[in-house]
Amino acid sequence: MADLILFWHRRDLRTIDNVGLASAREKTSKVVGVFCLDPGILASDDVAPARVTYLIGSLKALQEQYLQAGSQLLILKGSPLQKLPELAQALQAKAVFWNRDVEPYGRSRDRSVGEALQQAGIEVETFWDQLLHAPKQILTGAGEPYSVYTPFWRNWLSKAKPSPAQDFAGAEGLTEQEQTIAQKAGAIELPTAKALGFVWENELLLPPGTQAAQERLAEFCDRALNDYQEQRNFPATIGTSHLSAALKFGTIGIRTVWQSAQAVYDDSRSDEARSNIQTWQQELAWREFYQQALYFFPQLAEGPYRQPFKNFPWSDRADHFQAWCDGQTGYPIVDAAMRQLNELGWMHNRCRMIVASFLTKDLIINWQWGEKYFMQKLFDGDLSANNGGWQWSASSGMDPKPLRIFNPASQAQKFDADGEYIRQWLPELRHLDTADLVAGKIDPGDCDRCGYPEPIVDHKKQQALFKQIYQQQKLQ
Ligand SMILES: Cc1cc2nc3c(=O)[nH]c(=O)nc-3n(C[C@H](O)[C@H](O)[C@H](O)COP(=O)(O)OP(=O)(O)OC[C@H]3O[C@@H](n4cnc5c(N)ncnc54)[C@H](O)[C@@H]3O)c2cc1C
Repeated sequence: MADLILFWHRRDLRTIDNVGLASAREKTSKVVGVFCLDPGILASDDVAPARVTYLIGSLKALQEQYLQAGSQLLILKGSPLQKLPELAQALQAKAVFWNRDVEPYGRSRDRSVGEALQQAGIEVETFWDQLLHAPKQILTGAGEPYSVYTPFWRNWLSKAKPSPAQDFAGAEGLTEQEQTIAQKAGAIELPTAKALGFVWENELLLPPGTQAAQERLAEFCDRALNDYQEQRNFPATIGTSHLSAALKFGTIGIRTVWQSAQAVYDDSRSDEARSNIQTWQQELAWREFYQQALYFFPQLAEGPYRQPFKNFPWSDRADHFQAWCDGQTGYPIVDAAMRQLNELGWMHNRCRMIVASFLTKDLIINWQWGEKYFMQKLFDGDLSANNGGWQWSASSGMDPKPLRIFNPASQAQKFDADGEYIRQWLPELRHLDTADLVAGKIDPGDCDRCGYPEPIVDHKKQQALFKQIYQQQKLQ
C-alpha cells in the first residue's frame, strides 16, 4: 500500500499550481488534503464575515477538486497543534507537507506543529508557494532585506520567474475504514460560514474557488490589462483585476497569474501596452514586497516602524472614528469609499489610500484603528498588504518619504471627475451639481435636506495641525 502524505492547506486553496501539493504527489499517489478551522484565527476580533464566506466557499470548491483528482479534503476544527498530529497519527501518515507563510502567528504555529509531528515520528516538509520569490531570494548586495520598494522591484523583476507547478491528478484517497478513523480523529463536515457565526448576505466581488479566479484572470488579461495604467485609478471603472481575495487565499497560484500576464506582455506590439502590463506586475511585486517586509520585520504587525510615530499623540475621538467607519464624515469621496467597503467587503485601491490618509492626517486617528476596521470588513483582508498599505498612508512605515497628505476634494476632482462613484455610493447626493459634489462643497441647507452631514473637520486646519504635531515628534 502507498505511503500516506497529508497536505495541510492554509492560504493555498487549490490543487492546481500548488508547489507543496505537487511535491507530495510526486512522492506518493496517496495524498489527502486537510484544512483546519483554527479558533486562534476565527475567534479574533478582526475577522470579516465576507472573508469567512469566501474561505468556506473556496474550501467547498477545493473539496470538489480533490474528489475529481481521486482523493479527499478533510476538515478539522480546533487548534492545529493538537488536531493535526492526532489525525496524522490515527491515519499512520508518513508525512505532513505544507506551504510556508510569512505572518508571525502562522510561522510560530507552524514551528510548534512541525515539532509535535516530528516528535510523533511523522516527517514534515515545507515549501514556498505564495510568492514568486521566497523572501531570502531577494536581498540587497550586502545580503540584507530591502526596506525600500524601488530597488526591491528592480531586483525582483530581474530574476527568472518559476513556471506553474504540476497539476494534482490521479491520486488515491482514504479507504472507507480510514475515513471512519479520520472522523474519530476529528474530521468533520465542512460547516457553513453562518454555522461558524459569520453572516454575509451580499454578493462577493469575486465568487469563491479556483474556477472563478481563473475566469477572472483570463477576462482581466483579455479586457483590462492593456489599459491598466490609465484605468486603475478611477474607482467608478472596473480597471483592476479584483483578484486580491484569490491571491490572499491562494485559490489561484501566483505562477499562473504571472504566466498569464507575461503572455500578454510577450504578445504586445506597443511600448504603451507593455508599460501597462508592467504597471500591473509592479502591483504583484508590491504584494511580495510587503510579504517579505513582514517576514523580516515581524514587528511591523505590532506598530509603527518609524520613530516619530512611536508615541504619536493620536486623537481618541471615538465619534470621529465612528463617522469615518459609517461613511458620515461630510467628505463625499471618503464617505462613498467607506460605504463601498461596508457594502462590498472591498474598496478600490485609490480610495483605500484616500480614506487612510483622511483617518490619519485629517482626523489624526491612529492608523491601527483603521487597519483593524479594514480587517473586520475586507474579503481580501491580508495582514501584510493591509499593514503595508496603512503604514504607507500614515507615513509610519519603512518608506522614507514622510508626509503624504491627500486632499479629498482634489483626489475626487482628479479620479471621479464626473462624480459617478460618489453618486453610486451616496444616493442622497445624486441630485447635486457635479462640480460642487466632487469638490465636497455642499450647501448646509442641502445637507440638512438630504440627511447628509456637514464636514466633521476642516481639511486645511487639520493638515496644518498634523504637520505641526509631526514636526514636534521628529524633535523628540
Ligand atoms: C490602506 C490600504 C489597505 C490595503 N489592504 C489590503 C488588504 O488587506 N489586502 C490586499 O490584498 N490588498 C490591500 N491593499 C492593496 C490594494 O488596495 C488591493 O490589493 C487592491 O485594491 C485589490 O484590488 P485588485 O485585486 O483589483 O488589484 P489589482 O490592481 O488588480 O492588483 C493585482 C494584485 O496585486 C496585489 N496588490 C495590488 N496593490 C497592492 C498593494 N498596494 N499592496 C499589496 N498588494 C497589492 C493584490 O494582490 C492585487 O490583487 C491595501 C491598500 C491600502 C492603501
